[in-house]
Amino acid sequence: MHIADLFAQEGLPVSFEIFPPRGELATEEARMVISQLAPLAPSFVSVTYSAGGSSNSSRTIDVASVAKRDFNLTTMAHLTCMGAREADVDTYLRALKMTGVENVLALRGDPVAGREPLDFKYAKDLIPRVKDAGFCVGAAAYPEGHIDCLDFNANIEHLKQKQDAGADFFVTQLFFDNQYAYRFLEAARAAGITVPITFGIMPFLSKQQISRMVFMCGASLPSPIVKLLARYENDRAALQAAGIDYACKQLVDLAEHGVDGVHVYTMNKPQIARAATEALAPYRKG
Ligand code: FAD
Repeated sequence: MHIADLFAQEGLPVSFEIFPPRGELATEEARMVISQLAPLAPSFVSVTYSAGGSSNSSRTIDVASVAKRDFNLTTMAHLTCMGAREADVDTYLRALKMTGVENVLALRGDPVAGREPLDFKYAKDLIPRVKDAGFCVGAAAYPEGHIDCLDFNANIEHLKQKQDAGADFFVTQLFFDNQYAYRFLEAARAAGITVPITFGIMPFLSKQQISRMVFMCGASLPSPIVKLLARYENDRAALQAAGIDYACKQLVDLAEHGVDGVHVYTMNKPQIARAATEALAPYRKG
């Protein structure tokens, strides 16, 4: 199924992101995770793409294939184009097509040493190629702006360029204060962005994890989270429970505001997906 069509259905679309595990048993580990997510009936699952080498990209395809073929889930595979040639992208898309996966999140990827843009400078340059291959195309959106782009209006302009290039819907980066999401949504709609936008939420589970996320993507850390991190500094289980509870409250607030959809960064932890599903149950019925 094309994810763009989900947003026309009744009830709130709730989706889960997973990543291909590392190591030799990656596909089997992923199967274990997906087997626990599937009974929660996600609207779709998305599988991340790690930059750097064909083994990583084949893992994305393998895991996406398990979700699609073995569990019959609507599935989206991520794809980045930093350092990629057109032929690399075409090879990936051909392999993905064979699995029956119909949706791709078209991304630029982060700059890393030794990987400069080659045939695609921005995600907007990748989107038409993915679209021409017959996929429904999602793209990334940033409620607080992308970390490399400090101008809020320029961020919205770049988002509009992705829609004009053919993006069928957007999935946002994580954020910890929903006010950023609502301000962003208003600006995006005012700028003529009409495609569905689904909002991504990741629970904080530890000080280390949240610091990494904040520095990687530039999300603001509101004081209630700082206080929770301080209160539960020495109690790992309590901190994780507080993080999941905080994320569920964010998700419910987004649902109450009537957003197009919500996307849960599960970090391959089924307990996160279960808590989110339970919290959002009243909004999923339609
Ligand atoms: P772009 O839209 O190309 O934007 C990149 C930068 O260029 C931004 O600063 C933007 O403002 C600027 N820009 C865009 N257009 C123009 C223009 N015309 N002129 C000047 N500047 C411009 N990364 C992975 O490696 N693997 C993943 O699986 C993955 N999944 C993700 C999922 C989601 C939902 C999100 C939000 C991000 C994900 N990322 C992933 C991270 C993503 O690759 C990075 O955030 C990357 O730096 C930007 O990707 P993009 O597609 O948004 O790029």
